[in-house]
Amino acid sequence: MNYYSLNNKNTKVSFQEAVIQGLAPDRGLYFPEKIAPLSQSFFDTIENLSNEEIAFEVIKQFVGNEIPEIELKQIVAETLCFDFPCVSVEENVYSLELYHGPTMAFKDVGARFMSRCLAYFNKGKDLKNTVLVATSGDTGGAVASGFLGVKGVEVVILYPSGKVSDIQERQLTTLGQNITALEVDGVFDDCQDMVKQAFLDSDLKYKNLTSANSINIARWLPQMFYFFFAYKALKKYNKPLIVSCPSGNFGNICAGILAKKLGLPLTHFVAATNANDTVSKFLENGIYDAKPSVATISNAMDVGNPSNFIRIQEMYSNDLKEFSKDFSSYSFTDEETKSAMKDIFSNTGYIAEPHGAVGYLGLKKELKKHPNCIGIFLETAHPIKFLDVVEPVLNITLEIPKQIESVLGKEKIRVKINSYNELKQFLIQ
Ligand SMILES: *Cc1c(COP(=O)(O)O)cnc(C)c1O
Repeated sequence: MNYYSLNNKNTKVSFQEAVIQGLAPDRGLYFPEKIAPLSQSFFDTIENLSNEEIAFEVIKQFVGNEIPEIELKQIVAETLCFDFPCVSVEENVYSLELYHGPTMAFKDVGARFMSRCLAYFNKGKDLKNTVLVATSGDTGGAVASGFLGVKGVEVVILYPSGKVSDIQERQLTTLGQNITALEVDGVFDDCQDMVKQAFLDSDLKYKNLTSANSINIARWLPQMFYFFFAYKALKKYNKPLIVSCPSGNFGNICAGILAKKLGLPLTHFVAATNANDTVSKFLENGIYDAKPSVATISNAMDVGNPSNFIRIQEMYSNDLKEFSKDFSSYSFTDEETKSAMKDIFSNTGYIAEPHGAVGYLGLKKELKKHPNCIGIFLETAHPIKFLDVVEPVLNITLEIPKQIESVLGKEKIRVKINSYNELKQFLIQ
């Protein structure tokens, strides 16, 4: 399978090159050259297939013959080593829980898939890749865990000092082996800027730097799996399905739309956002006005210029009218989010963390227009990951899951840096 750069359709690379490069040399995002719908019989019998079998069918055309079937099946099995329950919250409203993986963040799936693809490509070679990633909290832990012990890959994670929670910091700093955490004296944007500068630095070319956020196709594409799992769980009700994704960089929802292109019968998508409302404003007035990000309680979605939105526009050939038929976007304040968390909890007993609650709000708004549909919102993190918000808002004490308990007692090991030069020196030595 070939991928083209969204900055220039004549720039084409293989799956392997796209994974290793992350971003195209012209700074464009890669996009698959062909999207072939899956067969009707696949959808007719999906409830008889395991998650692994579904995922293999979904991903295989995007990898092509670059990873042999038997190895790709192994990668998929290792990626999906946990459950994706679709939990009934209230009548016709379901939560698809994506947080049962090793770091309790939905980004575990993409990180595990990407790391194993890189490991396959490096097998038997002297090649070494360095994965460089800036995190505001959740991504770093999933990448650290997903890449732990993967041969031929060094992982360097930059995080802003004092700006991530204690649990998140421990998930980044306690693993050792091929994972190094750099504590940056600054905010998330400073970490991000340093990472971008490193990618452009010709002195570092020999380090084979790559990114592990959703611009990388190997992190983005496997997120399609969730939408197939939701369909498998709810198909029996024989009603049209609406999915609401709490959205930041729009990687997840973009994967959902790609799943629809493969024939998955989802009726409508909602991109639910916090105060970072660039896309909902665009749908209102047709003007895409990227803004600096605003800090909110659903901080993994504090993105003012969502990088994957351009991929969504590509799938609709930039036709806003066609796009609006399948897609809505709504923005919610922190106050609305907190009161949704309280309402869900007092009405149903379900504990939603702030990102899931934003997804819920978007779903409820859209369901008003489609009363005959079933709605699904994605719950993208375990409440414990955002306990600083969940506990005071719901006035409860959360139990600590075993995945989290295992990092709490470990010693944090990190290197402090405060300039790009220090990052560069670190990478070179
Ligand atoms: C990353 C993240 C999101 C946003 O996902 P995108 O694919 O960037 O839109 C939502 N919730 C949580 C908890 C996240 O970590």
